Amino acid sequence: MIHGLGASEGIAIGKAFVLPNWEWELPDNKIGVGDLALEFERLYEGVKRSKSEIHRMKTEMDEAVGPEESGIFEAHLAILDDPVFMNEIKGIIQRQYKAAEVAVKEAIDHFVTMFDLLDDEYMKERALDIKDVGNRLLKHLLGAPEIMLPTDTQPFILVVRELTPSQLIHLKPDVVLGIVTMVGSPSSHSAIMARAFGIPLVMGVENKLQEPIETGDLLIVDGGAGLLHVKPSADTVLRYSEMRKRQLETRERLQQLAQVPSVTPDGETLVLAANISSVKELDAALSNGAQGVGLFRTEFLYMDRNRFPTEEEQYEVYRTAAEKLQGKPLIIRTLDIGGDKHLDYYEMPEEENPFLGFRAIRFSLSRTDLFKVQLRAILRASAHGNVQIMYPLIASVDEVREANAVLAEAMKELAAEGVPFRSDVPAGVMIEVPAAVAISELLAGEVSFFSIGTNDLVQFTLAVDRMNEQISHLYEPFHPAVLRMLRTVVEAANRHGVQVNVCGELAGDVRAMPIWLGLGIHELSLSAQSILPVKETMLRTYAQESRMLMDEIFRLRTAKEIRERLEKFHAESALAKGNVRP
Ligand code: PEP
Ligand code: MG
Repeated sequence: MIHGLGASEGIAIGKAFVLPNWEWELPDNKIGVGDLALEFERLYEGVKRSKSEIHRMKTEMDEAVGPEESGIFEAHLAILDDPVFMNEIKGIIQRQYKAAEVAVKEAIDHFVTMFDLLDDEYMKERALDIKDVGNRLLKHLLGAPEIMLPTDTQPFILVVRELTPSQLIHLKPDVVLGIVTMVGSPSSHSAIMARAFGIPLVMGVENKLQEPIETGDLLIVDGGAGLLHVKPSADTVLRYSEMRKRQLETRERLQQLAQVPSVTPDGETLVLAANISSVKELDAALSNGAQGVGLFRTEFLYMDRNRFPTEEEQYEVYRTAAEKLQGKPLIIRTLDIGGDKHLDYYEMPEEENPFLGFRAIRFSLSRTDLFKVQLRAILRASAHGNVQIMYPLIASVDEVREANAVLAEAMKELAAEGVPFRSDVPAGVMIEVPAAVAISELLAGEVSFFSIGTNDLVQFTLAVDRMNEQISHLYEPFHPAVLRMLRTVVEAANRHGVQVNVCGELAGDVRAMPIWLGLGIHELSLSAQSILPVKETMLRTYAQESRMLMDEIFRLRTAKEIRERLEKFHAESALAKGNVRP
């Protein structure tokens, strides 16, 4: 049994599929004159294979989402037919006696550098296309195996060194039973997405494996406990099968609560909304009784393609979400790119500390052209439902004012064009930087609502990188410093009559319920999977008792003491309700 980091609850039992690491190794020796013909032949064969692969992907994409999205493949095919690109490669082989793969790599670098130097978005996009096609061609020239997830086999457990959010977005939850990663941390966005999809995930097992896992090995992933079993005994499989059965039964039981109002036994309400990254997730959230969307992470809409989404594309998505919600609130967070979320088609600067770097509102305010496209799309969607706007990573009043100025420009443009939108659309901010907490009093005068992002707030308050598994034990949401941050925000908001929501992952931790009730949080926004367990806890937690408990909690000095006290309170309320046998 291997102890990793439990990152997404649930039990998966199945065969491993190990995704190989992908690194190019190019030959550095020159070819002989007699090999020229052979190198050309290899090049043509590589081009042929790349084209047929692109054709296949295009057909799949056409069937899945329609021809509008698959236009990119046409562009890739055109590059492989482009005489300028191909002559560059052939010239390098012929004049410099280099192997085909080396020539392809040098040609890619040449064009990418050339296009990148131009101050033209269109050409920069072409550079990315060349990189993409070039890499495909390289893959075929190097004869490397296709990195494709099996689709024709039984569902499997994916074993991968590291998982990026953009890889995860392409996984089909129905074939991926569970995931094991060698490195990574439960507060990364990949982990958040795995939770949203309900895929059990254990991370950070790299140094704990006695021998590498191989494709076909039987695995058990226990995402709640953070355990991994490689080639388990029949007894262990039986034990976990039973545990999984019980988990499914619990899920069914909780489902009965979906439409029960979210009110404490002493009559106080706490709105339970959903965090989503795509409209796809909205159905699951609504069937679990979500009372709205408290956080729509729009960056995945940008990551799931090979260019920036147009205003029209974004509008369609936001409008669909607003309509599905039928008047329930939809808080759309503007692009929070950077940190661990990257766009394949946009070169971000290399950064020493990406989470403290060029990301979120900082990116939007430096690219007001792109920001305005998004705001226009959100504003247009506001005509179709209860849409609200939220700015991420706010650290100053200036940023709010600058963002609101772009919003005002977008409104002015739409009004001049006669396009309908809600001119009083509420705009709020994420509170996820300690500076925002410290000035919450000042921010409250500028915004319609606060939403506390505990994921980043914990990392910045405690100076603990949320991606670094080596220090993940220090990533402690129940740290007294974090609780004091929460209290400061709520008190400032109350003085100004500003609503406070919580949308970080801590909202989904059932032990935290008395914190929300005790402080007087208005809304929790959670992953769809967490809504019902949190509601079950709320239905038995008295707000009055929670307030008293918080007085006690604020006197405790360590996270451990706080956690233990909350766990005791949780267990007692469960016992009192009769949900748990002693
Ligand atoms: C947060 O930081 O708590 C949050 C909700 O935003 P994200 O996890 O997307 O950074
Ligand atoms: Mg955040």
